Amino acid sequence: MLTLALSKGRIFDDTLPLLARAGITVQGDPESTRKLILPTNRGDLRVVLVRASDVPTYVRHGGADFGVAGLDVLLEADAVQGGDGLYRPVDLRIARCRLSVATPQGFDYANAVRQGARLRVATKYVHLAREHFAAKGVHVDLVKLYGSMELAPLTGMADAIVDLVSSGGTLRANGLVEVEHIMDISSRLIVNQAAFKTKAAALKPLVDGLRTAVAAVLEVPA
Ligand code: ATP
Ligand code: MG
Repeated sequence: MLTLALSKGRIFDDTLPLLARAGITVQGDPESTRKLILPTNRGDLRVVLVRASDVPTYVRHGGADFGVAGLDVLLEADAVQGGDGLYRPVDLRIARCRLSVATPQGFDYANAVRQGARLRVATKYVHLAREHFAAKGVHVDLVKLYGSMELAPLTGMADAIVDLVSSGGTLRANGLVEVEHIMDISSRLIVNQAAFKTKAAALKPLVDGLRTAVAAVLEVPA
């Protein structure tokens, strides 16, 4: 039996078409079922539904053989868990966005950086944020949040946030502006290293099928 870890929402929705191109259909809708394990059209493959930030943990510790995780989540997990134990064979090019620094409209970020000011930064991505600001030589006090980062500057709790941005609509709606691009983000296929060897006969064709699916989507945009 092979187990694929997915998170509900964007990643599940965007992975389905790639799975379909690889000949796999997931049975059941995560939004309407309380089941955490979904069968597929293949008797030897099932899907487990976990929190987005738990996908690397499940795959690293063998709760799942492979999974789909955002690069943001993956790099944060690497910082805590160490990078070992996971292969990252395919950039699935789904759930694309960017990790950025944003501040309130009136805040002169460039000047604060130039002056060597100590910035209070709220984020879910404390490790990625720490690395980014350390590389720039900017002093920061990081405040860890689990969601709704946009609120932190509005309440005076932070000068800036590090968050994912796609259209920028959420930032704009909260009077924030993107002042620095940290990295581009997309979701990656991750595979348990041990499983990739012991279950190679079953896993390798699936990984290849998904790689081919990504290439096909690139040629024929939706
Ligand atoms: P949880 O609610 O369990 O903490 P989450 O809010 O991170 O998880 P999603 O919002 O489904 O879960 O995000 C999953 C992944 O999708 C993120 O890790 C990121 O890689 C990507 N993502 C997040 N926001 C966007 C966005 N606005 N546009 C495109 N991709 C995004
Ligand atoms: Mg979310």
